[in-house]
Amino acid sequence: MSNDKARELDAQDPLAGKRSEFLLPDDTIYLDGNSLGPLPRAARDRMQEVVNSQWGNDLIGSWNIHNWIDLPTTVGRKIGRLIGAADGQVICCDSISVNLFKLLSYAMQLNPSRNVILSQSDNFPTDLYVTQGLAGLLGEQRCQLKNVATEKLIEALDESVAVLMLTHVNFRSGAVHDLPKLTSLAQQKGILVVWDLAHSAGALPLDLDSANVDFAVGCGYKYLNGGPGAPAFLYVAKRLQNLANQPLQGWMGDQSPFDFKPDYRPSTGVTQFLCGTSGILSMAALDAALDIFADVDMQAISQKSRELSDFFIGSLAQYPALEELILVSPSDPQLRGSQLAYSHPDAYAICQTLIDLGVIVDFRAPDIIRFGFTPLYTSFLDVWTAAQKLNMIVDSKLYMHAKYQTRLKVT
Ligand SMILES: *Cc1c(COP(=O)(O)O)cnc(C)c1O
Repeated sequence: MSNDKARELDAQDPLAGKRSEFLLPDDTIYLDGNSLGPLPRAARDRMQEVVNSQWGNDLIGSWNIHNWIDLPTTVGRKIGRLIGAADGQVICCDSISVNLFKLLSYAMQLNPSRNVILSQSDNFPTDLYVTQGLAGLLGEQRCQLKNVATEKLIEALDESVAVLMLTHVNFRSGAVHDLPKLTSLAQQKGILVVWDLAHSAGALPLDLDSANVDFAVGCGYKYLNGGPGAPAFLYVAKRLQNLANQPLQGWMGDQSPFDFKPDYRPSTGVTQFLCGTSGILSMAALDAALDIFADVDMQAISQKSRELSDFFIGSLAQYPALEELILVSPSDPQLRGSQLAYSHPDAYAICQTLIDLGVIVDFRAPDIIRFGFTPLYTSFLDVWTAAQKLNMIVDSKLYMHAKYQTRLKVT
């Protein structure tokens, strides 16, 4: 690994041109697209148009003129193409947390003789919190959360389990579950499966339909670059639609919201999973951001992500000082998502120092530094430079400086 090698790889990179579609500050190496994707030019331009011309000029007429009303469906369709879902199964709305509540409630109704939602204690906390909330509401007899370690997952798939809820790519370590295999093993035991694709959609090739997935949720503001708090999405397989009602019955999930009648009648298809009015500004930004994927192959993205992360691992290996950093992610690139996690007792301070020097990464409690490798706008030279800076910081112990030690509210 060297500076020259990095430049050589950049020169051969088929995705190199995509970087110019993003607005990234100069002198910043952004290795945190797994937490918040950067601003696409197209999203900025669309925001201006929606604010100035649509909201500003066409006002309420925009619901029809600019089809605001159909955005959850049209954006859902674009996301569906990225995750291997045929039309009519994906809708863009709400947050992952809210969507999980809808899907878990719905799935529990489809498996009424069982009461366990099986997951993992190292799942993303919101997934567990939402499940705990649902269990509190339904009572233990009807619903309880059981967490098991990855090695114990398969043996835990028994007749008590109603729903298996997993995150495909672990948010800390980046470890990937075998989605088709676990889906199929669970289904053989009569279990419905809900996948959280927060760190997968836009990062890895996915084929939900051919894996016969039941339900999924995913994030709009990470790899899909929809902007802070962008709406999330949910997927419900065609065969599982219209079998029950999801409990957040709002008017946008009704068959005819503009009839204003007193009794709810769920819309058919995946639109019954809508609840209230969408945040149109946010959804419009996500809609524009998704067009970046129109001409790229998800295989090319994941291939470059593996090359970038391998290049980073190789670069770190050249520096004895960096032996203090322990790779927590699987070393086999086929077994991880688009990020690398390293543990270090001073992980927080090292992160703060890197950020101060223009390399944006993030910290995950208790002791993890996450480096995200998002192929659409990260170059091999970025990765090489980040490794140099990391070595300088650790070798010189620059991170021991008091100013890097104070915890901020968002880490
Ligand atoms: C980021 C993330 C979420 C976020 O949930 P929101 O409710 O949309 O804020 C959920 N699950 C996982 C695995 C995540 O990484």
